[in-house]
Amino acid sequence: MAEGLVPLVAGNWKMNGLRSSLEEIRAIASAAKAGEGGRAEIMICPPATLLIEAAGICRGTPLRLGAQDCHSEVSGAHTGDLSAEMLSDAGASYVILGHSERRADHAESSENVRVKAHAALRAGLQPIICVGETRGEREAGQALSVVGSQLKGSVSADAPVPGLVIAYEPIWAIGTGLTPGAQDVAEMHAFIRQELDAHLGGRGADVRLLYGGSVKPGNAAEWAVLPNVNGVLVGGASLKAADFLPIVRAFG
Ligand code: PEP
Repeated sequence: MAEGLVPLVAGNWKMNGLRSSLEEIRAIASAAKAGEGGRAEIMICPPATLLIEAAGICRGTPLRLGAQDCHSEVSGAHTGDLSAEMLSDAGASYVILGHSERRADHAESSENVRVKAHAALRAGLQPIICVGETRGEREAGQALSVVGSQLKGSVSADAPVPGLVIAYEPIWAIGTGLTPGAQDVAEMHAFIRQELDAHLGGRGADVRLLYGGSVKPGNAAEWAVLPNVNGVLVGGASLKAADFLPIVRAFG
């Protein structure tokens, strides 16, 4: 793990969770309060419907909350959308942007992501910008070039750091149980660090880089020891405290 950066273990609940699921947030919050995270920062992105109640549960604990998307504008005629300001008001500190499911389901471009990241920072939210290649792109030897162009398009060259988080999530590893080899992740994260450093004018060292894609209690330690891996973005295994907390401990 890169020295000096506080690891971030983030959970993405996607479109999962009813009010009864708040018990899982309560269990994670009390483990965080008991110091189970060690030096790691712990964060859960529940669906927006649960944010306000989850914020009440997290009050007085180190567990942070995030949202899964935001609109670029502060307010206005955008039925069904939520602004970064609204999400901050509801208790979020982070927002995931450009997740591959949003890039696919909502045709979000890197340009859309860059504008949303600006909105997040305006509202005091830390954006977690997701990048990653498809299976076909990896097999064609294009993984680095695809991720490089997603980074350049999604991250503004004057973005403030720290405050910015990048999640490398190979699309073929999300929700599939498949993972890249440790060497592939180390190579990609070193590449992302180098690209960011050039893009941000020498400020890349302070950006936290997360790995995401089928992170489980059984493989978390494998990612935690890699250089330039400053945490993980966890989908399925973040839904239950019993699965998520061992991952947290691997980074603590
Ligand atoms: C994700 O949702 O970003 C993710 C990586 O999912 P999973 O951990 O389930 O692969």
